[in-house]
Amino acid sequence: MEENFINIWEKALEALKDETSQIAYKTYIEVMVPRLIDKNTVCFLAPSGYHIEICKKRYLDLIQNTLKILTSVDYKITFEAKDAIPENGEEALDEEIVKGQYANVEVGENAKIIPSVDVKRIKEEAGLNVSTVYSFDNFVIGSNNRFAQATAYSVSQNLGMTNPLYIYGGVGLGKTHLMQAIGNAVIDQDPSKKVIYCTGELFVNELIKAMLNPNMNDSFKKKFRNVDLLLIDDVQIIAGKDKCQEEFFHTFNSLFESGKQIVLTSEKSPKEINGLEDRLRTRFSMGVSVDIQTPDYETRVAILKKKAEEERYLIDDELIERIATRVKSNVRELEGVLKKLVAYTKFTNNPLTDDLVDNTIESILVKNTKILTSTLIMQVVAKFFNIKVTDLTSDKRSNTIAFPRQIAMYLCREVADMSFPAIGKDFGGRDHSTVLHAYSKIKDEYDNNADTKDLIDDIKKALERES
Ligand code: ADP
Ligand code: MG
Repeated sequence: MEENFINIWEKALEALKDETSQIAYKTYIEVMVPRLIDKNTVCFLAPSGYHIEICKKRYLDLIQNTLKILTSVDYKITFEAKDAIPENGEEALDEEIVKGQYANVEVGENAKIIPSVDVKRIKEEAGLNVSTVYSFDNFVIGSNNRFAQATAYSVSQNLGMTNPLYIYGGVGLGKTHLMQAIGNAVIDQDPSKKVIYCTGELFVNELIKAMLNPNMNDSFKKKFRNVDLLLIDDVQIIAGKDKCQEEFFHTFNSLFESGKQIVLTSEKSPKEINGLEDRLRTRFSMGVSVDIQTPDYETRVAILKKKAEEERYLIDDELIERIATRVKSNVRELEGVLKKLVAYTKFTNNPLTDDLVDNTIESILVKNTKILTSTLIMQVVAKFFNIKVTDLTSDKRSNTIAFPRQIAMYLCREVADMSFPAIGKDFGGRDHSTVLHAYSKIKDEYDNNADTKDLIDDIKKALERES
């Protein structure tokens, strides 16, 4: 039956091609992968949530009618995004990790927690937060962090297999949370495991102390090299500090060679950290690097709901949605708004009003609104065209890449107000005349070709929501 449906879909595509503009067909329809769920339900796997939204709005009837004409069946149509949010971490793990890299790794049965040990004290000594515990349970999975979460979870279950795990991304997006979740999971499963959580800053300070006092030098080495799991948070801080990099290099090697797990977080990918020694850059890139992006709207709502639930705070869905619409780029701010509202309600007993919520948001967001950057534009454009961000900065000239690249450049000028030379620099060091050419070409198409205009307007809308 499945076989059959593929034939039907191929016929449908031919018809749909005639019914839609070339750009729309290529961007939104051809990229859908159908799967027959039962006799008359088709689920389309779409490259992203944007595709689903637009397809539902504009092409659902068309697709349904076309299928009906071809088969006389009234197909029910559902969609699923490739970057969809999985139900829980383990599912993501099954799908993305176990299938590939870790296919042969056995996930050991969790060791029982021995009741007599003081797990809280052990965690405290390991340097983990104990007032607010960051765990996998209270980490909300969204398309922005799904792969990072799945990999972090996998690392916590298979110490030493993925070395190092390198988690990077902007401020307040959950890097520390994920890193500590690994530490907590490891100690919960086996309190005898030696775990150290340490910020890059603390590492630097301890090293300086140790250098001033030869007796401490030994204990410094022992402390950091005698562990099963070393968690260094915000490791970028050691860049440009020669002695620290040297010492960290040796710590790293010693742990790595004995198969001990290292997890690092940073605001930037190893490639992007200025002043980082090449040998460390190489080491940092040896395992798996995962990034965390800003959360999308659904994830923001889910995070707010989770945090409200943790605080046992009753808040209307409408207000949650109001916050999630306004606070976009940082989970810490999202949490901050909620905490302020909780405090307010506790102290005053007054009901929350829209105005109050808006003022609270305002007070937290001052000067923090995200500006549109070329990075964001590239991410959104790449998603629309189902290509990689790196394609946009590459030298590839095929039309499937060149056209999206030109659109991205155009948007950098048009909506982010960037100069032509600055755009050229961000797109793999291109000359400003190349950018100018791309800009004029797309501008002309925007003004004269309705299909291109529609497509660009779709992308602009998506950008508005992301920024
Ligand atoms: P970073 O280290 O990336 O700057 P943090 O890990 O400190 O960010 O996260 C900031 C706050 O946001 C923390 O309180 C954390 O619990 C919360 N947070 C971030 N992402 C999530 C998520 N996906 N689910 C639940 N809480 C989150
Ligand atoms: Mg952090």
